[in-house]
Amino acid sequence: MSDINVEEIVRRVLENLNGDTQVKPSKGIPKTARVAMLTDKERFEIKEFPIPALGDGDILVKVEGCGVCGTDAHEYKRDPFNLIPLVLGHEGSGEIVALGKNVKTDSAGKSLKIGDKVVTCMIFKDNPDILMYDLNRQNVGGADVYGLLPDDGIHLNGWFADYLVIRKGSSVFNVSDLDLISRLLIEPCAVLIHAVERAKSTGILRFNSRVVVQGCGPIGLICIAVLRTMGVENIVAVDGEESRLAFAKRMGADKTVNFKEHKGIDALAAAVHSACGGKPCDFAFQCTGAAVAHSNVYKFIRAGGGLCELGFFVNGGEASINPHFDICAKELTVVGSWVYTLRDYATTFDFIRRAKAIGLPLETLVTHTFPLEKIDEALKVNLSMQGIKIAVINK
Ligand SMILES: [Zn+2]
Repeated sequence: MSDINVEEIVRRVLENLNGDTQVKPSKGIPKTARVAMLTDKERFEIKEFPIPALGDGDILVKVEGCGVCGTDAHEYKRDPFNLIPLVLGHEGSGEIVALGKNVKTDSAGKSLKIGDKVVTCMIFKDNPDILMYDLNRQNVGGADVYGLLPDDGIHLNGWFADYLVIRKGSSVFNVSDLDLISRLLIEPCAVLIHAVERAKSTGILRFNSRVVVQGCGPIGLICIAVLRTMGVENIVAVDGEESRLAFAKRMGADKTVNFKEHKGIDALAAAVHSACGGKPCDFAFQCTGAAVAHSNVYKFIRAGGGLCELGFFVNGGEASINPHFDICAKELTVVGSWVYTLRDYATTFDFIRRAKAIGLPLETLVTHTFPLEKIDEALKVNLSMQGIKIAVINK
């Protein structure tokens, strides 16, 4: 994948942390914008706020759409991060309609102008360490995320809205060459680029490895696509829904195992080994948020093999394992993965282009779309586990 000059990205983000005067949004931009504000658990209100004057390092984006994430669903149901009231939506993309005078290029050094299509991932505020530290070892945990910002005087803080203000000190990428649905998939895809980088750090995941991907929600399905794009062909997908397993095949899985057809872990492990050609796999990715799935996955992996656990973005409870049989006696190498680094984000654009080039139908992951005013329905469809990826699309 192409080598983006990370030092250059760091320098540009740091530059954006300094200097500010106010610029007024230009003509043709409305005075107010709608946002879908989560004002209580399971309650969105469409509110209208003035579009604020921009600082020299800010960007005003007209939102074209935003994917619904599991994190949005957690916030909607339970507000575990205690953020209400807030505007959700972090998997968005849109068109630049106004630029602060100091904004000339994106975080990768590509020029930016009005009309360009962009994505953003994080606001780095005064914590450049997230960028400076070994980029493949430290993820962006600790940075602020659009769509998970508490409400403040700007209000246009999340992508479930008509407009978003990208503040100075944020990462921003010009992705005008990608279609809208692809742009909405960038953020979740970055999670998998990172997971596969973590998996590669074990030295076990190779071109001809036998790989198990457990869980075929959006994360597991994109995991399969990333592996396939890298040339890994022996991929066994494990899930309990036939429709998701069929999806897994379209994304590049070679074989599938429906865990509902096998009673008990011994029978399930035997089925997985059989799908792997009669032996345990070399490497497994655990992509479900169910604690029992973590306990089970060890039984699928050979001695000397590896595991990447990425299913627990939030606390999913305790899982029991037998450390002797599951880890020590097998000398297993286990890595955890959570969100991504800035470098992974840039690599993701190349992944999406390459996945399309080899015919993987990434865009079919978005199975349902809703206008902003129907955001409640979008969240309900997401929670009901119908479809794969749900998105809000603005006119
Ligand atoms: Zn997300």
